[in-house]
Amino acid sequence: SAAAKAHDLVVIGGGPAGYVAAIKAAQLGYDTACVEMRGKLGGTCLNVGCIPSKALLNNSQFYHQILTDSKARGIDVDPKAVALNFPALMKAKEKVVNQLTGGVEMLFKKNKVTYYKGRGSFDSETAVRVSPVEGLDGSVPSDILLEAKNILIATGSEVSPFPGITIDEERIVSSTGALALKEVPKRLAIIGGGIIGLEMGSVYSRLGSKVTVLEYQDKIGASMDDEVAATTQKLLKKQGINFKLQTKVMAATRNGDVVNIEMENAKTGAKDAIEADVLLVAVGRRPYVQGLNADKIGLEVDKRGRLVIDDKYSTKFPHIKVVGDVTFGPMLAHKAEEEGIAAVEIFKTGYGHVNYNNIPSVMYSHPEVAWVGKTEQELKSDGVQYKVGKFPFVANSRAKTNMDTDGFVKILIDAQTERILGAHIIGPNAGEMIAEAGLALEYGASAEDVARVCHAHPTLSEAFKEANMAAFDKPINF
Ligand code: FAD
Repeated sequence: SAAAKAHDLVVIGGGPAGYVAAIKAAQLGYDTACVEMRGKLGGTCLNVGCIPSKALLNNSQFYHQILTDSKARGIDVDPKAVALNFPALMKAKEKVVNQLTGGVEMLFKKNKVTYYKGRGSFDSETAVRVSPVEGLDGSVPSDILLEAKNILIATGSEVSPFPGITIDEERIVSSTGALALKEVPKRLAIIGGGIIGLEMGSVYSRLGSKVTVLEYQDKIGASMDDEVAATTQKLLKKQGINFKLQTKVMAATRNGDVVNIEMENAKTGAKDAIEADVLLVAVGRRPYVQGLNADKIGLEVDKRGRLVIDDKYSTKFPHIKVVGDVTFGPMLAHKAEEEGIAAVEIFKTGYGHVNYNNIPSVMYSHPEVAWVGKTEQELKSDGVQYKVGKFPFVANSRAKTNMDTDGFVKILIDAQTERILGAHIIGPNAGEMIAEAGLALEYGASAEDVARVCHAHPTLSEAFKEANMAAFDKPINF
């Protein structure tokens, strides 16, 4: 190949971790390149994750609400006149994905980030080889060699396989296939009652699927506060989602147009079997380092496949750092973005920081579930003395007005200092409201600090204020 191109920073991977880091680095004056092999920027999140799932969640909720919720609001709808146009619903999703991934490409141009469409791999600890994915004239383009003073690995994650089950993305699908089904399945089975499984379950349940969630644990929602998880399950059940907990899936096979799923009760060993038209395998994600050639330069990978880093995101080479899903911590887009910024700032100034005690989680079901900080079960097992403040949305005037009153806000505070330790919200717009909890947590606020802030009336966020009042004193409206 021709002479190598030199950059101050080469970012491998154009997902939330990589693209945000690349823009930040360019803004800080680095000659920055980003290598992405997908053909589109935005990574898992924009292409097959956060964004398409939220498009389907939002529009399926509209459809469901029109059918179930109109009359009480004074709108007479003839259910026979309401038709789901599933291909159009999918098109709306594709449109927003294209707008947003195209938007990142524009931001690269605006910030003068050089974008290489190809797979990046290590030639040496200072050279990244780009194998381009597409040639302009259909020819096989030759590799491009990049010389890099600094390298940031942001190669993300991929779907974890389920041992013994073959994903064909048609009848047995991962989240990627579930986001692109050709029709609404009559019966959808889901292995895994975590956020991704429950979000996709919500989508198809609203569109008419009979959804069954198979979960190995005795609770859904993984790291959710136990009380919130129980309420979530109750509300999703009311919406028609069927749960089989403590259920160990043993095998799943496609037979023509049906999938046969065999399982065992995790406690008693009792056998059971169900049939589904589509099976979604949603048992998590694993770090992605395939083809990166990380072993060639001796980068360390732990038992779970994560690239090992120190507290400055550095591998054994200080000029090679790692951020996002491919390393430690929760696999969340906003966590990946924060790390991208922090790592670039460390490159530039030697200092950068992410507060790992303050990373919100959101499940975009209806109602939404959002939390940040410690759960009650964590405080118990840590032996922390705490107090609880709760406020139900049924006592919140805006939720009442909106006829959307399921759920509550739960605030956990230190018993002595009354400092906020965790916030757990199940209710309308919980995902927006959790930002206030994050701000409070970051500033080390007490419950009284929040309770004394004037919140607009009538808003859902008054429930957050009143839960804080309830934590150290008494609420007014409940
Ligand atoms: P990724 O987004 O995976 O990006 C990595 C990129 O690197 C990919 O585009 C890949 O093609 C590229 N790449 C890999 N290797 C190479 C190589 N050698 N050369 C060139 N390019 C390479 N998170 C949230 O916070 N909120 C949500 O609502 C949410 N919903 C989700 C829904 C679903 C269905 C899924 C699957 C995930 C969801 N997530 C959500 C998780 C979120 O998508 C990830 O945490 C996030 O994308 C991680 O960002 P990343 O940049 O680390 O990795």
